[in-house]
Amino acid sequence: MATERTFSIIKPDATRRNITGAVTAMLEKAGLRVVASRRIRMTREQAEGFYAVHRERPFFSDLVSFMTSGPVVVQVLEGEDAVALNRKVMGATNPKDAEEGTIRRAFAESIEANSVHGSDSLDNARIEIDFFFSADEIVG
Ligand code: GDP
Repeated sequence: MATERTFSIIKPDATRRNITGAVTAMLEKAGLRVVASRRIRMTREQAEGFYAVHRERPFFSDLVSFMTSGPVVVQVLEGEDAVALNRKVMGATNPKDAEEGTIRRAFAESIEANSVHGSDSLDNARIEIDFFFSADEIVG
């Protein structure tokens, strides 16, 4: 295992319910370290660019509307095997399928409003981190 960095978003359903601390605590408890964090309101352009891979999916327009509906917290997480570890602690996309002890099982409202985003590969982690952060904003 190697030390990796991955990208996380605490989504608008979680900021609305004021549970960014509770979500972050679960990330930290799992062994991930927050090495960059910023609360932002995503523009439509940013959300469309970030989710460009989903452009053809039927839920794309709803997803962009949801992600711009309120503030989000964008984060860089660091740790051993961080990409896979973060996916594990997030849980399945649909909270109905998410395992006990995962963030989505604990907090997600629906398959769309599922509280967190996490990179699905090391390559995508690099792309997504670069999308929101410059090197000098990440302090490990
Ligand atoms: P993730 O990697 O687990 O976040 O899942 P995906 O990459 O497949 O989907 C990206 C995001 O799109 C999810 O986290 C949800 O917020 C949303 N999403 C996925 N599937 C659906 C769906 O069937 N309907 C709606 N409305 N949103 C979805």
